[in-house]
Amino acid sequence: MPAAAPAGHSGLVDSHCHLDFPDFEGKLDSVRSEMAENGVTHALCISVNLSGFPNVLALAERYDNFFASVGVHPDQEDRGAVDSGELVRLAQHPKVVAIGETGLDYYRVSGDLEWQRDRFRSHIRAARSCRKPLVIHTREAAADTLRIMREEGAREAGGVLHCFTESQATADAAVGLGFYISFSGIVTFKNAQALKEVARRIPLDRLLVETDSPYLAPVPFRGKTNRPGLVRHVAEEVAKLRGIALEELAAATTGNFFRLFGSPE
Ligand SMILES: [Zn+2]
Ligand SMILES: [Zn+2]
Repeated sequence: MPAAAPAGHSGLVDSHCHLDFPDFEGKLDSVRSEMAENGVTHALCISVNLSGFPNVLALAERYDNFFASVGVHPDQEDRGAVDSGELVRLAQHPKVVAIGETGLDYYRVSGDLEWQRDRFRSHIRAARSCRKPLVIHTREAAADTLRIMREEGAREAGGVLHCFTESQATADAAVGLGFYISFSGIVTFKNAQALKEVARRIPLDRLLVETDSPYLAPVPFRGKTNRPGLVRHVAEEVAKLRGIALEELAAATTGNFFRLFGSPE
């Protein structure tokens, strides 16, 4: 059964986490009870390579309130080309609600990155073909990310720019392509003033929140292992920045999540 939200609170959704990572081995029960305590009703478990995908899918099959994505992260340099037909085939499972994470990362990987752009194109083609939204990672590659999204018709699939750390102009361009913008714990960091400003201005009907667990724990847990229950701190910060109640932010972001990725059964 999906965890119930505390009375008087709309449930929150963690739109991006990596619960198949070794950090969570044997800890799923405590992760899930912390989610319930914090009114976090659902989580989207994100795939970073195809060899790990069965473990991501197993989480979504085991728990009603977990979903899965299928894709190969742009940092996975040694994985080779990704066949869009293979992604489409794996995405047929009813608990697979998205294609990704995919995208471009010019910060952690360097050299000739044509392979990264090719792989991103394969994911967009797969998303269009199976009509599932994209989870896009972009770091120091905003111009190329937007260009490839336009060239490949990513608008047709829709999706989210996850763990957003780029400029207002990039956010506006992505929203213009029909995409959502997801904020992580980074928005709670003191030195993230420009990002806080973006979080104030994104239309409420395009906002999502996430943890990117086990990374990027929000204040006051910065430096610790992140987990989906802590998405509440991300949501509280974004609500505070926008001058609205947590309940309103929760209702909006959860509504956005299910509009983008499909309704829970
Ligand atoms: Zn990412
Ligand atoms: Zn991720």
